[in-house]
Amino acid sequence: MPREKKIEEYDVVIIGGGASGLTAGIYCGRARLKTIVIEQALVGGIATNTNEIENYPGFPEGTTGTGLMKLFHQQAKKFGVKFKLTNVKTVDFTGDIKIVETFRNRYKAKAVIICNGSKPRLTGAENEEKYVGKGIAFCATCDAAACTDEEVLVIGSGDAAIEEGMFLTKFASKVKVSIIHDEGIMDCNEVAKSAALANPKMEFLHNTVVERFEGEDELTTVVLKNLKTGELTSIDCFTCFLFIGYIPNTSIYEDKVNMTKSGYVITSENMETSVPGVFAAGDVRDKFLRQVATCVGDAATAGVMAEKYIAETEIFENIIMKGDGIAYIFDASKADHRKFLEEIEELEKEYDEYCCHRVDTYKSRGLAQRLCKTGHCPSVIIIKNGKVVKVISEETLSKNEIEKNL
Ligand SMILES: Cc1cc2nc3c(=O)[nH]c(=O)nc-3n(C[C@H](O)[C@H](O)[C@H](O)COP(=O)(O)OP(=O)(O)OC[C@H]3O[C@@H](n4cnc5c(N)ncnc54)[C@H](O)[C@@H]3O)c2cc1C
Repeated sequence: MPREKKIEEYDVVIIGGGASGLTAGIYCGRARLKTIVIEQALVGGIATNTNEIENYPGFPEGTTGTGLMKLFHQQAKKFGVKFKLTNVKTVDFTGDIKIVETFRNRYKAKAVIICNGSKPRLTGAENEEKYVGKGIAFCATCDAAACTDEEVLVIGSGDAAIEEGMFLTKFASKVKVSIIHDEGIMDCNEVAKSAALANPKMEFLHNTVVERFEGEDELTTVVLKNLKTGELTSIDCFTCFLFIGYIPNTSIYEDKVNMTKSGYVITSENMETSVPGVFAAGDVRDKFLRQVATCVGDAATAGVMAEKYIAETEIFENIIMKGDGIAYIFDASKADHRKFLEEIEELEKEYDEYCCHRVDTYKSRGLAQRLCKTGHCPSVIIIKNGKVVKVISEETLSKNEIEKNL
């Protein structure tokens, strides 16, 4: 008989313990939310793949990915965040309480932050795994300086490959590019293509794919195969950059949150996914730049938004929807909305058996959305016995109309 899963309850469950998950943990833990980070492999995530992080602010001498992530981890633990090393198998976001399941446990959470990251697509060639982080790299912004006056090889011909290849020419003595297509064909945009073709440091190896990677402890040689002739050529290189795409770790979210065709989670600028109470941060998001600095920004926002969502849920369920009352949804920056507050105050005095809640859409957008599904602002919501019985808005919004419905 299958063993019954242990149930644990948290305010916030964070899935993924990379730069984003750790930062979200710092923010949630510091907000005194009961928080757990579930990480399937190594706390620190993909940043631990790099020896050199020179562009993360606050470290003028640079730092290592592992060193930086250790500090993030330490800081999250300081704020009481719990860690569980296992992988999340399924999620259920259909109810107000979100369910996150691992092999042994079922976690119930008021809010979830998705921080699963993405993984670089690999070529699948022989010995590849052995040299990841030891000569096989995925980030020119991060590793170009280490390639000064060295020869490097780039795999791929999309925008990332050609633009990052061009960036590498500022450091490397030669940038060879392995392209799967016939001479003259590249997957990148025309502007990048023309610039690359005119750059004397770039050399293009058409109709080639990686056959295998070679070296001792570190990569020294990449063997390329010509798809037309079958000929194998050994290319000595200091670093081989793979730019053949990324794969987001989002298979468990299929049909659970909105994603792009390539599987990246779509969020608002406040890191909200299509499901209220579920947020996403870092490389797993559909966004322009995937770096530690941008992960930190995303995750700080997601952490604060999760805190706000939980606080608003508590106000909504335990204060506003308990008993009879009215909620005035307004935009405090608008003079006419502020003016109507005077009428609300009069009502408050006349009908003191009714609780009167002021919901400013700027500060409490989520709360306003829960109370008024149509999104009308200003509007007055009449609540009786814990249920919304009337929404009064636009031209019908008047003290008289409210009184008629009390
Ligand atoms: C080689 C390399 C060098 C880089 N160098 C730099 C640099 O110099 N500067 C810079 O700013 N950026 C650099 N980057 C980019 C930077 O590392 C990433 O943008 C950042 O670390 C992503 O963090 P993240 O938390 O969003 O994702 P990740 O670090 O990928 O973390 C996601 C975590 O989620 C876990 N996970 C996934 N699925 C599950 C599941 N189902 N259950 C539980 N856990 C799960 C994964 O194991 C992983 O640990 C580099 C990237 C690479 C690959």
